[in-house]
Amino acid sequence: MTIHTKQITLPAGYIVINNKPFDINIMKKKFFNTNIYRNNSATEFIVENGKITEMGTNLPECDEEIDLKGKLIMPPYVDPHLHLDYVYTGRNDGGMVNSGTLFEGIERWHYIKKSQNKKDVKERALAGIREEVSHGIQFIRTHIDVTDPELTGLKAILELREELKDKVTIQIVSFPQEGMYAYKNGFEMVEEGLKMGADCVGAIPHFEWAREIGEKSIHKTVELAVKYNKMIDVHIDETDDVMARFIELLNALVMTEGIGEKTAASHACSFGSADNAYANRMIGLFKKSKINFITPPTENAYLQGRMDNYPKRRGLNRVKELLEEGINVCFAQDSINDPWYPLGNGNMMNILDNGIHLTHMASYQEIEKSFDLITFNGAKTMMIEDYGLTIGRSANFIVLNESDVFEAIRKRVEVLASVRNGEYLFKRKEPIYDLPLNL
Ligand SMILES: [Zn+2]
Repeated sequence: MTIHTKQITLPAGYIVINNKPFDINIMKKKFFNTNIYRNNSATEFIVENGKITEMGTNLPECDEEIDLKGKLIMPPYVDPHLHLDYVYTGRNDGGMVNSGTLFEGIERWHYIKKSQNKKDVKERALAGIREEVSHGIQFIRTHIDVTDPELTGLKAILELREELKDKVTIQIVSFPQEGMYAYKNGFEMVEEGLKMGADCVGAIPHFEWAREIGEKSIHKTVELAVKYNKMIDVHIDETDDVMARFIELLNALVMTEGIGEKTAASHACSFGSADNAYANRMIGLFKKSKINFITPPTENAYLQGRMDNYPKRRGLNRVKELLEEGINVCFAQDSINDPWYPLGNGNMMNILDNGIHLTHMASYQEIEKSFDLITFNGAKTMMIEDYGLTIGRSANFIVLNESDVFEAIRKRVEVLASVRNGEYLFKRKEPIYDLPLNL
Protein backbone atom coordinates (compact mmCIF):
# COMPACT_ATOMS: atom_id res chain seq x y z
CA MET A 1 0.00 0.00 0.00
CA THR A 2 1.21 3.52 -0.69
CA ILE A 3 0.06 6.80 0.81
CA HIS A 4 -0.35 9.69 -1.65
CA THR A 5 0.11 13.30 -0.72
CA LYS A 6 0.05 16.39 -2.89
CA GLN A 7 3.80 16.51 -3.28
CA ILE A 8 5.16 13.00 -2.90
CA THR A 9 4.22 9.34 -2.91
CA LEU A 10 5.27 7.61 0.32
CA PRO A 11 6.09 3.94 0.70
CA ALA A 12 4.13 1.83 3.21
CA GLY A 13 5.06 2.47 6.83
CA TYR A 14 5.46 6.24 6.39
CA ILE A 15 3.18 9.00 7.61
CA VAL A 16 3.23 12.76 7.17
CA ILE A 17 3.47 15.10 10.14
CA ASN A 18 3.81 18.85 9.56
CA ASN A 19 4.41 18.15 5.86
CA LYS A 20 7.40 15.91 6.61
CA PRO A 21 7.49 12.14 5.99
CA PHE A 22 8.29 9.87 8.93
CA ASP A 23 8.99 6.14 9.07
CA ILE A 24 6.60 5.06 11.84
CA ASN A 25 9.01 2.34 12.95
CA ILE A 26 11.79 4.75 13.80
CA MET A 27 9.65 7.76 14.61
CA LYS A 28 9.99 9.13 18.12
CA LYS A 29 6.88 10.27 19.89
CA LYS A 30 6.84 12.23 23.14
CA PHE A 31 3.89 12.32 25.52
CA PHE A 32 4.42 15.29 27.85
CA ASN A 33 2.79 17.36 30.59
CA THR A 34 1.23 14.53 32.57
CA ASN A 35 0.91 13.18 36.11
CA ILE A 36 1.85 9.49 36.14
CA TYR A 37 0.19 7.29 38.80
CA ARG A 38 2.82 5.86 41.22
CA ASN A 39 5.59 7.94 39.61
CA ASN A 40 6.52 11.26 41.22
CA SER A 41 9.63 11.97 39.19
CA ALA A 42 8.58 11.80 35.52
CA THR A 43 6.19 14.10 33.68
CA GLU A 44 6.92 12.89 30.15
CA PHE A 45 8.13 9.89 28.20
CA ILE A 46 9.28 8.94 24.74
CA VAL A 47 7.83 6.08 22.70
CA GLU A 48 9.64 4.33 19.85
CA ASN A 49 8.12 1.45 17.94
CA GLY A 50 5.38 1.09 20.55
CA LYS A 51 7.77 0.86 23.53
CA ILE A 52 8.72 3.38 26.20
CA THR A 53 12.38 4.26 25.69
CA GLU A 54 12.87 7.27 27.99
CA MET A 55 11.05 8.74 31.00
CA GLY A 56 11.73 11.88 32.99
CA THR A 57 11.51 15.66 32.55
CA ASN A 58 12.89 17.96 29.86
CA LEU A 59 13.43 15.08 27.45
CA PRO A 60 14.76 15.81 23.93
CA GLU A 61 12.49 17.03 21.16
CA CYS A 62 10.73 14.30 19.15
CA ASP A 63 9.14 13.89 15.72
CA GLU A 64 5.68 14.06 17.27
CA GLU A 65 4.81 15.69 20.60
CA ILE A 66 1.52 15.08 22.40
CA ASP A 67 0.40 17.38 25.21
CA LEU A 68 -1.55 15.43 27.85
CA LYS A 69 -2.56 18.74 29.45
CA GLY A 70 -1.58 17.80 33.00
CA LYS A 71 -3.98 14.86 33.15
CA LEU A 72 -3.47 11.78 35.31
CA ILE A 73 -2.35 8.71 33.39
CA MET A 74 -1.88 5.11 34.48
CA PRO A 75 -1.54 1.68 32.92
CA PRO A 76 -4.85 0.42 31.46
CA TYR A 77 -7.60 -0.91 33.69
CA VAL A 78 -7.65 -4.68 34.10
CA ASP A 79 -10.83 -6.74 34.40
CA PRO A 80 -9.61 -10.11 35.70
CA HIS A 81 -13.02 -11.81 35.92
CA LEU A 82 -15.75 -11.48 33.29
CA HIS A 83 -18.20 -13.90 31.65
CA LEU A 84 -18.09 -12.85 28.01
CA ASP A 85 -20.27 -15.72 26.73
CA TYR A 86 -23.11 -14.57 29.01
CA VAL A 87 -23.20 -10.84 28.23
CA TYR A 88 -26.59 -9.36 27.31
CA THR A 89 -28.49 -12.62 27.93
CA GLY A 90 -30.05 -11.21 31.13
CA ARG A 91 -33.18 -10.01 29.36
CA ASN A 92 -33.61 -13.09 27.17
CA ASP A 93 -36.70 -15.25 27.55
CA GLY A 94 -36.12 -17.10 30.78
CA GLY A 95 -33.06 -15.00 31.69
CA MET A 96 -34.67 -12.54 34.07
CA VAL A 97 -33.73 -13.52 37.56
CA ASN A 98 -36.26 -13.38 40.41
CA SER A 99 -34.53 -14.46 43.59
CA GLY A 100 -31.20 -12.75 42.91
CA THR A 101 -29.29 -15.87 43.93
CA LEU A 102 -26.29 -17.49 42.27
CA PHE A 103 -28.10 -20.80 42.00
CA GLU A 104 -31.09 -19.40 40.13
CA GLY A 105 -28.64 -17.79 37.68
CA ILE A 106 -27.00 -21.15 36.96
CA GLU A 107 -30.37 -22.81 36.44
CA ARG A 108 -31.52 -20.11 34.01
CA TRP A 109 -28.24 -20.24 32.06
CA HIS A 110 -28.67 -24.02 31.62
CA TYR A 111 -31.66 -23.31 29.35
CA ILE A 112 -30.48 -20.08 27.71
CA LYS A 113 -27.20 -21.57 26.43
CA LYS A 114 -29.00 -24.24 24.44
CA SER A 115 -30.12 -21.64 21.91
CA GLN A 116 -26.78 -19.86 21.39
CA ASN A 117 -24.60 -20.24 18.31
CA LYS A 118 -21.05 -19.12 17.61
CA LYS A 119 -22.05 -16.05 15.62
CA ASP A 120 -24.40 -14.90 18.36
CA VAL A 121 -21.76 -15.40 21.09
CA LYS A 122 -19.14 -13.52 19.07
CA GLU A 123 -21.45 -10.58 18.43
CA ARG A 124 -22.49 -10.27 22.06
CA ALA A 125 -18.97 -10.78 23.40
CA LEU A 126 -17.56 -8.21 20.98
CA ALA A 127 -20.16 -5.68 22.11
CA GLY A 128 -19.23 -6.43 25.74
CA ILE A 129 -15.53 -6.03 24.98
CA ARG A 130 -16.27 -2.70 23.25
CA GLU A 131 -18.00 -1.48 26.40
CA GLU A 132 -15.06 -2.54 28.54
CA VAL A 133 -12.36 -1.10 26.26
CA SER A 134 -14.30 2.16 25.92
CA HIS A 135 -13.97 2.48 29.71
CA GLY A 136 -10.19 2.04 29.61
CA ILE A 137 -9.78 -1.73 30.03
CA GLN A 138 -7.10 -3.42 27.88
CA PHE A 139 -6.72 -6.71 29.78
CA ILE A 140 -9.61 -9.13 30.35
CA ARG A 141 -9.71 -12.58 31.88
CA THR A 142 -12.91 -14.34 30.92
CA HIS A 143 -14.48 -17.55 32.25
CA ILE A 144 -16.06 -19.44 29.37
CA ASP A 145 -18.57 -22.19 30.12
CA VAL A 146 -17.32 -25.53 28.77
CA THR A 147 -20.24 -27.59 30.11
CA ASP A 148 -21.59 -27.63 26.58
CA PRO A 149 -21.04 -30.60 24.25
CA GLU A 150 -20.48 -28.23 21.31
CA LEU A 151 -18.14 -25.88 23.18
CA THR A 152 -19.83 -23.05 21.28
CA GLY A 153 -18.78 -20.26 23.65
CA LEU A 154 -15.17 -21.40 23.81
CA LYS A 155 -14.82 -21.61 20.01
CA ALA A 156 -16.24 -18.10 19.66
CA ILE A 157 -14.01 -16.52 22.30
CA LEU A 158 -10.85 -18.29 21.09
CA GLU A 159 -11.42 -16.63 17.71
CA LEU A 160 -12.04 -13.22 19.29
CA ARG A 161 -8.92 -13.53 21.48
CA GLU A 162 -6.83 -13.89 18.33
CA GLU A 163 -8.67 -11.30 16.24
CA LEU A 164 -8.45 -8.59 18.92
CA LYS A 165 -5.02 -9.31 20.41
CA ASP A 166 -3.41 -6.09 19.15
CA LYS A 167 -6.06 -4.00 20.90
CA VAL A 168 -7.04 -5.95 23.99
CA THR A 169 -5.41 -8.90 25.77
CA ILE A 170 -7.86 -11.70 26.58
CA GLN A 171 -7.16 -14.70 28.82
CA ILE A 172 -9.62 -17.58 28.81
CA VAL A 173 -10.56 -19.86 31.71
CA SER A 174 -11.88 -23.33 30.81
CA PHE A 175 -14.80 -23.09 33.23
CA PRO A 176 -17.36 -25.81 34.05
CA GLN A 177 -20.31 -23.60 35.03
CA GLU A 178 -22.55 -26.60 35.75
CA GLY A 179 -19.87 -28.53 37.60
CA MET A 180 -16.83 -30.65 36.80
CA TYR A 181 -18.82 -33.64 38.13
CA ALA A 182 -22.40 -32.38 38.57
CA TYR A 183 -22.37 -32.06 34.77
CA LYS A 184 -21.80 -35.30 32.86
CA ASN A 185 -18.27 -35.33 31.40
CA GLY A 186 -17.57 -31.90 32.92
CA PHE A 187 -13.99 -32.86 33.77
CA GLU A 188 -13.33 -34.05 30.21
CA MET A 189 -14.75 -30.80 28.83
CA VAL A 190 -12.46 -28.72 31.06
CA GLU A 191 -9.46 -30.72 29.83
CA GLU A 192 -10.61 -30.36 26.21
CA GLY A 193 -10.85 -26.59 26.73
CA LEU A 194 -7.23 -26.51 27.87
CA LYS A 195 -6.13 -28.53 24.85
CA MET A 196 -7.97 -26.08 22.59
CA GLY A 197 -5.99 -23.17 24.04
CA ALA A 198 -7.58 -21.90 27.26
CA ASP A 199 -5.07 -20.17 29.54
CA CYS A 200 -6.46 -21.23 32.92
CA VAL A 201 -8.17 -24.18 34.60
CA GLY A 202 -11.51 -23.34 36.21
CA ALA A 203 -13.79 -25.10 38.68
CA ILE A 204 -16.85 -24.47 40.86
CA PRO A 205 -16.55 -26.77 43.90
CA HIS A 206 -19.43 -25.20 45.87
CA PHE A 207 -21.79 -26.23 43.07
CA GLU A 208 -20.80 -29.93 43.10
CA TRP A 209 -23.33 -32.21 44.78
CA ALA A 210 -21.29 -33.12 47.85
CA ARG A 211 -18.32 -31.67 49.69
CA GLU A 212 -16.16 -34.66 48.77
CA ILE A 213 -16.90 -34.15 45.09
CA GLY A 214 -16.07 -30.45 45.36
CA GLU A 215 -12.77 -31.46 46.94
CA LYS A 216 -12.14 -33.91 44.13
CA SER A 217 -12.69 -31.10 41.60
CA ILE A 218 -10.01 -29.03 43.38
CA HIS A 219 -7.52 -31.91 43.25
CA LYS A 220 -8.26 -32.36 39.54
CA THR A 221 -7.93 -28.63 38.87
CA VAL A 222 -4.43 -28.56 40.32
CA GLU A 223 -3.46 -31.77 38.49
CA LEU A 224 -4.61 -30.29 35.18
CA ALA A 225 -2.74 -27.03 35.80
CA VAL A 226 0.49 -28.94 36.44
CA LYS A 227 -0.04 -31.34 33.51
CA TYR A 228 -0.72 -28.58 30.95
CA ASN A 229 1.32 -25.80 32.59
CA LYS A 230 -1.70 -23.48 32.93
CA MET A 231 -2.81 -20.91 35.46
CA ILE A 232 -5.71 -21.62 37.84
CA ASP A 233 -8.80 -19.49 38.44
CA VAL A 234 -11.51 -21.13 40.54
CA HIS A 235 -14.98 -19.85 41.42
CA ILE A 236 -14.56 -20.78 45.04
CA ASP A 237 -16.82 -20.58 48.09
CA GLU A 238 -19.20 -18.17 46.37
CA THR A 239 -21.69 -18.61 49.17
CA ASP A 240 -22.46 -17.27 52.65
CA ASP A 241 -22.07 -20.77 54.11
CA VAL A 242 -19.59 -20.32 56.95
CA MET A 243 -18.51 -23.93 56.51
CA ALA A 244 -17.60 -23.56 52.81
CA ARG A 245 -13.85 -24.05 52.99
CA PHE A 246 -12.69 -25.19 49.57
CA ILE A 247 -10.25 -22.26 49.62
CA GLU A 248 -8.31 -24.08 52.34
CA LEU A 249 -7.75 -27.11 50.10
CA LEU A 250 -6.95 -25.10 46.96
CA ASN A 251 -4.43 -23.00 48.86
CA ALA A 252 -2.74 -26.06 50.37
CA LEU A 253 -2.46 -27.90 47.05
CA VAL A 254 -1.06 -24.97 45.05
CA MET A 255 1.37 -24.22 47.87
CA THR A 256 2.59 -27.82 47.74
CA GLU A 257 3.06 -27.55 43.96
CA GLY A 258 4.67 -24.10 44.27
CA ILE A 259 2.12 -22.52 41.91
CA GLY A 260 0.35 -20.11 44.27
CA GLU A 261 1.33 -17.07 42.17
CA LYS A 262 -0.29 -18.71 39.13
CA THR A 263 -3.52 -19.26 41.07
CA ALA A 264 -6.53 -17.02 41.58
CA ALA A 265 -9.37 -17.58 44.02
CA SER A 266 -12.40 -15.81 42.58
CA HIS A 267 -15.14 -14.64 44.99
CA ALA A 268 -14.26 -16.56 48.20
CA CYS A 269 -17.31 -14.86 49.73
CA SER A 270 -17.67 -17.29 52.61
CA PHE A 271 -14.29 -16.16 53.90
CA GLY A 272 -16.09 -12.95 54.84
CA SER A 273 -18.45 -15.01 57.01
CA ALA A 274 -15.86 -17.32 58.61
CA ASP A 275 -14.91 -16.80 62.23
CA ASN A 276 -11.80 -14.80 63.04
CA ALA A 277 -9.78 -17.68 64.51
CA TYR A 278 -10.09 -19.63 61.26
CA ALA A 279 -9.52 -16.54 59.10
CA ASN A 280 -6.36 -15.54 60.93
CA ARG A 281 -4.80 -18.96 60.46
CA MET A 282 -5.74 -19.02 56.79
CA ILE A 283 -4.39 -15.52 56.09
CA GLY A 284 -0.99 -16.73 57.30
CA LEU A 285 -1.19 -19.65 54.85
CA PHE A 286 -2.32 -17.39 51.97
CA LYS A 287 0.77 -15.26 52.55
CA LYS A 288 2.95 -18.33 52.26
CA SER A 289 1.33 -19.64 49.08
CA LYS A 290 1.17 -16.18 47.38
CA ILE A 291 -2.30 -17.02 46.03
CA ASN A 292 -4.26 -14.15 44.41
CA PHE A 293 -7.86 -13.13 45.18
CA ILE A 294 -10.43 -11.63 42.82
CA THR A 295 -13.50 -9.85 44.19
CA PRO A 296 -16.35 -8.48 42.07
CA PRO A 297 -17.86 -6.02 44.58
CA THR A 298 -21.14 -5.20 42.84
CA GLU A 299 -22.03 -8.79 41.87
CA ASN A 300 -21.17 -10.29 45.24
CA ALA A 301 -23.04 -7.56 47.12
CA TYR A 302 -26.00 -8.28 44.82
CA LEU A 303 -25.93 -12.10 44.96
CA GLN A 304 -24.91 -12.80 48.54
CA GLY A 305 -26.79 -12.25 51.77
CA ARG A 306 -30.00 -13.39 50.07
CA MET A 307 -30.79 -15.92 52.79
CA ASP A 308 -30.18 -13.37 55.54
CA ASN A 309 -32.89 -11.46 57.31
CA TYR A 310 -31.17 -8.72 59.33
CA PRO A 311 -28.34 -8.08 59.71
CA LYS A 312 -27.66 -8.77 56.01
CA ARG A 313 -24.09 -9.67 55.15
CA ARG A 314 -22.25 -7.78 52.42
CA GLY A 315 -21.10 -11.03 50.82
CA LEU A 316 -17.55 -9.93 50.05
CA ASN A 317 -14.25 -11.54 50.86
CA ARG A 318 -12.04 -9.93 53.56
CA VAL A 319 -10.46 -7.62 51.01
CA LYS A 320 -9.11 -5.03 53.44
CA GLU A 321 -7.59 -7.56 55.84
CA LEU A 322 -5.96 -9.56 53.03
CA LEU A 323 -4.41 -6.42 51.51
CA GLU A 324 -3.13 -5.29 54.91
CA GLU A 325 -1.21 -8.57 55.12
CA GLY A 326 0.34 -8.03 51.68
CA ILE A 327 -1.87 -10.59 49.90
CA ASN A 328 -2.76 -9.66 46.33
CA VAL A 329 -6.44 -8.77 45.80
CA CYS A 330 -8.04 -7.19 42.74
CA PHE A 331 -11.54 -6.08 41.74
CA ALA A 332 -13.52 -7.29 38.71
CA GLN A 333 -16.76 -6.65 36.83
CA ASP A 334 -17.87 -10.32 36.54
CA SER A 335 -21.20 -9.76 34.75
CA ILE A 336 -22.65 -7.51 32.07
CA ASN A 337 -26.41 -8.01 32.02
CA ASP A 338 -26.62 -11.79 32.42
CA PRO A 339 -28.88 -14.17 34.36
CA TRP A 340 -26.83 -13.54 37.51
CA TYR A 341 -26.73 -9.73 37.50
CA PRO A 342 -28.90 -7.34 35.49
CA LEU A 343 -26.47 -4.40 35.38
CA GLY A 344 -22.73 -4.06 34.67
CA ASN A 345 -21.08 -2.10 31.86
CA GLY A 346 -17.31 -2.55 32.24
CA ASN A 347 -16.85 0.79 33.98
CA MET A 348 -14.09 -0.06 36.46
CA MET A 349 -14.44 3.32 38.17
CA ASN A 350 -17.92 2.23 39.23
CA ILE A 351 -16.54 -1.11 40.43
CA LEU A 352 -13.80 0.66 42.37
CA ASP A 353 -16.20 3.16 43.89
CA ASN A 354 -18.54 0.40 45.11
CA GLY A 355 -15.62 -1.75 46.21
CA ILE A 356 -13.94 0.79 48.46
CA HIS A 357 -17.29 1.52 50.13
CA LEU A 358 -18.27 -2.11 50.68
CA THR A 359 -14.85 -3.05 52.07
CA HIS A 360 -14.35 0.00 54.32
CA MET A 361 -11.28 1.04 52.32
CA ALA A 362 -11.90 4.73 51.89
CA SER A 363 -9.42 6.32 54.29
CA TYR A 364 -7.28 9.03 52.63
CA GLN A 365 -4.27 6.70 52.59
CA GLU A 366 -6.29 3.85 51.07
CA ILE A 367 -7.86 6.08 48.43
CA GLU A 368 -4.42 7.24 47.25
CA LYS A 369 -3.48 3.69 46.27
CA SER A 370 -6.91 2.27 45.45
CA PHE A 371 -6.35 2.42 41.68
CA ASP A 372 -4.04 -0.56 42.28
CA LEU A 373 -7.19 -2.69 42.73
CA ILE A 374 -8.22 -2.18 39.09
CA THR A 375 -4.74 -1.91 37.56
CA PHE A 376 -1.51 -3.40 39.00
CA ASN A 377 -3.16 -5.99 41.25
CA GLY A 378 -5.24 -7.38 38.39
CA ALA A 379 -2.17 -7.48 36.11
CA LYS A 380 -0.28 -9.40 38.80
CA THR A 381 -3.13 -11.91 39.11
CA MET A 382 -3.14 -12.39 35.33
CA MET A 383 0.70 -12.62 35.35
CA ILE A 384 1.05 -9.91 32.69
CA GLU A 385 4.74 -9.05 32.60
CA ASP A 386 4.54 -6.29 29.99
CA TYR A 387 2.51 -3.94 32.19
CA GLY A 388 3.20 -0.56 33.77
CA LEU A 389 4.69 2.69 32.55
CA THR A 390 8.35 1.72 32.71
CA ILE A 391 11.23 1.96 30.24
CA GLY A 392 11.29 -1.07 27.95
CA ARG A 393 7.59 -1.88 28.30
CA SER A 394 4.81 -1.34 25.78
CA ALA A 395 3.33 2.17 25.81
CA ASN A 396 -0.10 1.07 27.05
CA PHE A 397 -1.93 3.60 29.23
CA ILE A 398 -5.14 5.50 29.85
CA VAL A 399 -5.74 9.23 30.36
CA LEU A 400 -8.20 10.23 33.08
CA ASN A 401 -10.19 13.46 33.15
CA GLU A 402 -8.43 14.76 36.28
CA SER A 403 -4.87 15.50 37.32
CA ASP A 404 -4.98 14.27 40.91
CA VAL A 405 -5.55 10.71 42.22
CA PHE A 406 -7.81 11.64 45.14
CA GLU A 407 -9.97 13.97 43.01
CA ALA A 408 -10.19 11.34 40.26
CA ILE A 409 -11.69 8.86 42.72
CA ARG A 410 -13.90 11.41 44.48
CA LYS A 411 -15.36 12.64 41.19
CA ARG A 412 -15.42 9.14 39.63
CA VAL A 413 -13.94 10.61 36.47
CA GLU A 414 -14.16 9.15 32.99
CA VAL A 415 -11.33 7.83 30.87
CA LEU A 416 -10.60 10.39 28.13
CA ALA A 417 -8.26 8.21 26.07
CA SER A 418 -6.75 4.76 25.85
CA VAL A 419 -3.35 4.21 24.21
CA ARG A 420 -2.01 0.83 23.07
CA ASN A 421 1.57 0.48 21.83
CA GLY A 422 1.82 4.25 21.59
CA GLU A 423 -1.29 4.62 19.38
CA TYR A 424 -4.71 5.87 20.44
CA LEU A 425 -7.42 3.21 20.70
CA PHE A 426 -9.81 6.07 21.31
CA LYS A 427 -9.72 9.66 22.43
CA ARG A 428 -12.65 11.79 23.55
CA LYS A 429 -13.13 15.41 24.43
CA GLU A 430 -13.70 16.63 27.95
CA PRO A 431 -17.44 17.12 28.49
CA ILE A 432 -18.47 20.75 28.12
CA TYR A 433 -21.65 22.64 28.83
CA ASP A 434 -23.85 23.72 25.92
CA LEU A 435 -25.32 26.22 28.32
CA PRO A 436 -22.95 27.18 31.15
CA LEU A 437 -24.22 26.74 34.69
CA ASN A 438 -24.87 30.15 36.17
CA LEU A 439 -24.22 29.87 39.89
ZN1 LIG B 1 -17.86 -15.53 37.73
